[in-house]
Amino acid sequence: MNMATERKPAPMLDVERIRADFPILGEQIYGKRLVFLDSAASAQKPRQVIDAERMVYEREYANIHRGVYYLSQRATDAFEAARETTRAFLNARETREIVFLRGATEGVNLVAQSWGLDNLKVGDAIVLSTIEHHSNIVPWQLLRDRLGFEIRVAPVDDEGQIDMAAYRDLLDERVKLVAITHCANSIGTITPIREIARLAKEQGAVVLVDGAQAAPHLRIDVQEIGCDFYVFSGHKTYGPSGAGALYGRGELLDAMPPWQGGGEMITRVSFEESRFHEVPHKFEAGTPNIAGTIALGAALDYISGLGHEAILAHEHDLLDYAMARLGEINSLRVIGTAREKAAIVSFTLGDIHPHDVGTILDREGIAVRVGHHCAQPTMDRFDLPATVRASFGIYNTREDVDALYDGLRKTLEIFA
Ligand code: PLP
Repeated sequence: MNMATERKPAPMLDVERIRADFPILGEQIYGKRLVFLDSAASAQKPRQVIDAERMVYEREYANIHRGVYYLSQRATDAFEAARETTRAFLNARETREIVFLRGATEGVNLVAQSWGLDNLKVGDAIVLSTIEHHSNIVPWQLLRDRLGFEIRVAPVDDEGQIDMAAYRDLLDERVKLVAITHCANSIGTITPIREIARLAKEQGAVVLVDGAQAAPHLRIDVQEIGCDFYVFSGHKTYGPSGAGALYGRGELLDAMPPWQGGGEMITRVSFEESRFHEVPHKFEAGTPNIAGTIALGAALDYISGLGHEAILAHEHDLLDYAMARLGEINSLRVIGTAREKAAIVSFTLGDIHPHDVGTILDREGIAVRVGHHCAQPTMDRFDLPATVRASFGIYNTREDVDALYDGLRKTLEIFA
């Protein structure tokens, strides 16, 4: 970073400059300023990402990896440069440990259908947690129904934190996999993922981390976490939808069979047999999201350019401010008050249905998510069918929190 930032006591985001990078934030919604509080579902995109994707189509588009001509080489280089960017973003050892795919969901499914199908059987167990997104539950249930292993669930306490004693009790020699989120999308809990991975490893279990919500907020270091797999989605990291990555430890990926067959992933095909490429290409059958993946690299560069410490400080400030302001509303109940928490606030407002809250806020130009957030077991844990969720990102401000507060006051007046 430059001298100016070095002189500051703590890293800070220049939020006004960041906001200027996001064209959509200039949009008016029902004639009002857009207050976008749904980045946990999908974040908005900066001009740098939009430009990167447009640049591919305007200047360097061709199919990759198999063309001998200039454009194909150039697109291949840009695609592989995104792989190196992603490797650095996750601090993986080697670029071959980065598999590009559609996102976190596809990453979990790949691990389930390739590693899981080969390594899990009747008598084995896997451990998930209560606060998983459906995409880290359903792929395992589909496999469990075919293979007959057991799914164990680490519970959470009333704050929404993983009950580590209970988690420890679930671990025994039958556990072959622990698949747990780094940050819960529904209530914002940041899990003690290093400790979770360490305990799993002591039992010899393979560890998969769902990083879909952590990647936009936290510095990720897969080596420090000690996990075997880590998945995230580009669209939550200010990048395009339909582009994401799976990190897999090299030796494991090498030993795993392909999960989808097709072009790109083979070295030789005859009707008798096919031979497969080395990783990561073995897992990248068919033409990938070329422009989207290159733009994903631009998104990760954008985040890294801002600096994780500055992002964290900004989002902590927003979270503290939001918790204080929303705390002024007596009938508002926050679900998920973990000590380690991302800037995601899930709540109920008296007995007003979350969909009504969301609809009234929408007329004020405020976009929040309402529903079960693809985390129905979490909702069950707190005995709720749904919550309102406000999630914050790099472009949000205290003014956005104030707008949410005013919108909620208005909602209460309407329902009084
Ligand atoms: N895991 C978590 C924690 C999420 O929040 C999400 C999306 O909301 C996913 C996984 C699935 O991500 P995607 O739909 O991008 O595959």
